[in-house]
Amino acid sequence: MHITRPQDTILQLTPSMQNLASSATLAINEAVKARKAAGRQTIHLGFGEASFPLHPLLKEALDRAATHTGYAPVQGIPALRKAIASYLERTRQIAAASEYVAVAPGSKPLLYVLMQILDGDVLLPIPSWVSYAPQARLAGKQVFGVESDPADAHTLTLEKLSEALTQARRQGARPRILVVNTPSNPTGEMFSREDAQAIATWCKTEGITLICDEIYAELAHGWREHISLAKFYSEGSIVTGGLSKAFSAGGWRLGYASLPTTDDGKRLMTALRAMASEIWSSAPTPVQEAATVAYTYPPELERYVRRSAAIHEHATNRLYEKLVDLGIDCPRPAGAFYLYPDFSPLRTELQKRGITTGEELAHHLLEEWDIATLPGIAFGDRPDALRLRLATSILYVPEEVESDDEKDAVLWGLLEQADTLRDEGKDSAKMLKLPELERTRKGFEDFVGSF
Ligand code: PLP
Repeated sequence: MHITRPQDTILQLTPSMQNLASSATLAINEAVKARKAAGRQTIHLGFGEASFPLHPLLKEALDRAATHTGYAPVQGIPALRKAIASYLERTRQIAAASEYVAVAPGSKPLLYVLMQILDGDVLLPIPSWVSYAPQARLAGKQVFGVESDPADAHTLTLEKLSEALTQARRQGARPRILVVNTPSNPTGEMFSREDAQAIATWCKTEGITLICDEIYAELAHGWREHISLAKFYSEGSIVTGGLSKAFSAGGWRLGYASLPTTDDGKRLMTALRAMASEIWSSAPTPVQEAATVAYTYPPELERYVRRSAAIHEHATNRLYEKLVDLGIDCPRPAGAFYLYPDFSPLRTELQKRGITTGEELAHHLLEEWDIATLPGIAFGDRPDALRLRLATSILYVPEEVESDDEKDAVLWGLLEQADTLRDEGKDSAKMLKLPELERTRKGFEDFVGSF
């Protein structure tokens, strides 16, 4: 018997996948690779990957563990969970305990599972990282943006938080989760102590769970201290992080979540473990063993991370100074390797070229100036905002350097010079030789000069 299914194809997608695109960051990376393969030089500011060479201590630890091919416990090996809990207590002064720490293949799947297992809808700062909103929607949640103030380094105010909450409730939604990310991707901004405390206290009063994505915590530039919001609301905060940024090991896929050390936290961990057991079973065993060395945080690794942060600071600052010189509005970055400039001072001129949205601006920069960026809309910003996210972390190696060994040598050379950058102070700061960064500065100079 022949059955006709008029609207179906054989490979019919679920409704939630019909409109889901690939993550904007991964998509721009693919696009740049294709351009380069076709011989078009491109300044790649679209992808935020920490790309320093792996520290030898971690390489040795991974080598030692390579033969450990069995599955690890779903929640993670006890030694690693213990090391992470002590690390968080020591470096961030937050309550943590190994039974309340879970590790996974990256913090991204943990963030998704948290969306699946925590009740309620979601409040997200505008702008915020590309994956929070799609993950929340995939988990069947409604997402409500909280406007930040571009004139005040995209700070979140209690007024805007309350406004978003009231608005959402008026629409019949029940926001019970707020995700914060300090330092922030895309803005590079960090919460001040006062703001951190005020937001955490607001969440506590409103019964909102805080997900504190602190994957860039170690990469604070130093002029603003990193403050975890969890410090002020330990019973309602979950802290996530991992090896990807501070240890330049994104491909190792190792992230963690530290849950409240309470009975509620225990229940949440039971749910998280159940879900993890059905999806990824465990993070790779050898990587977990090597990560244990990372989170034990011996002085050599501490120095490596501090030096990486100093290079990121140096590069973002050099581009920041150039953009400000050119009359572009840009908050001063406080951490990570991102800038979030606002090209609205050029709005009238851009309009004459038919550019009225961030997406059109990003497209113009890529097609006419060979500069790859991401428009603010990818981070939940308004379409007409002329804001772009620029990632500086893969500009450290000159384009002509091809072999991995040569790249590593350049990057180790930079790390060696990192301490002197800070010691000499901003005014007398030694300039690192970063040809790709110079090309980027020149690229923006030419673009702005073309008006
Ligand atoms: N959170 C933020 C803000 C990020 O920028 C990233 C990676 O780009 C992640 C989380 C995910 O990191 P991972 O899954 O590598 O731990």
